Amino acid sequence: MQKTLALVAHDHKKPDLIEWAHKHRDILARHNLVATGTTGGLLSDALGLPVHRFKSGPLGGDQQIGALIAEGNLDALFFFWDPLNPAPHDPDVKALLRLCSVWNLPVACNEATADLMISSPLFEDASHQRKMPDYGK
Ligand code: PGA
Repeated sequence: MQKTLALVAHDHKKPDLIEWAHKHRDILARHNLVATGTTGGLLSDALGLPVHRFKSGPLGGDQQIGALIAEGNLDALFFFWDPLNPAPHDPDVKALLRLCSVWNLPVACNEATADLMISSPLFEDASHQRKMPDYGK
């Protein structure tokens, strides 16, 4: 079952994400990849895989990925955000993480969690569906 996976890394975390993505290239290659602009360009060049690029994060890319989540069109987010440097779009970062919780979306915010998430037996198990919150009730 092909999933749509979003990958985002802040500037100081981009080398870590690229290295991580190399390690898991075989799995990533089986899925539909989307990313914020700069991250997507680097990933596509490094992996030789197609990556749909939204706008750069500070220009609205985080919000575009948030819209995918709100519309039910994203399956997981790998978000290597930088805890040590201020980002001009900090409200967008917070909003993106908030939507992951609103919609019970799997999100990995560091390399250790990303390793565990992508290597989970459930990750590519078509019979595993995440529980979707029903806010209509
Ligand atoms: P970028 O955006 O991939 O365009 O650098 C990431 C971010 O800062 O959210």
